[in-house]
Amino acid sequence: MRAVLSIGSNMDDRYALLKTVLDEFSSEIVAQSSIYATPPWGVTDQDEFLNAVIVVDVNSTPLELLRRGQKLEEAAERVRVRKWGPRTLDVDIVQVRADDEEILSDDPELTLPHPWAWQRAFVLIPWLEVEPDAILHGTTVAEHVDNLDPTDIEGVTKIQEF
Ligand code: AMP
Repeated sequence: MRAVLSIGSNMDDRYALLKTVLDEFSSEIVAQSSIYATPPWGVTDQDEFLNAVIVVDVNSTPLELLRRGQKLEEAAERVRVRKWGPRTLDVDIVQVRADDEEILSDDPELTLPHPWAWQRAFVLIPWLEVEPDAILHGTTVAEHVDNLDPTDIEGVTKIQEF
């Protein structure tokens, strides 16, 4: 099963926290984007995020993959300095494919594809770097990026290799 993960952090050592995801999946990683600096979405009075997208090839169910991501989030929370503050680490499953068929789910615990991915520049721009031709809701990632608001695109800046 192949999965596209969107990962983000906006506190503590953001790069080190993203790196915990890379380390967890090391041998299962098919592609990894660069690291991007992105403005916070929704609640805007918080620090800038670092975001990346990784594509993994895992021998598990989607729910097992979700649990692995949640374990990494919990481990990151343990080093959190301030309760209820911004997120140390967020691991979202954007899309899952098995034999090139997209797996769909309306389970609130694991909704696939991730409901907001198609309109979030911080997901689409890193994803564009690694899988421009991937299809989400019948449209390529490249086309979704073309449809983004230009100011959203400008906010997402590639800063370093992962
Ligand atoms: P948040 O930490 O705000 O991103 O939300 C985490 C919650 O979203 C968890 O309770 C997950 O079970 C749920 N969730 C639903 N769909 C997904 C998905 N595709 N990827 C990650 N979490 C998901």
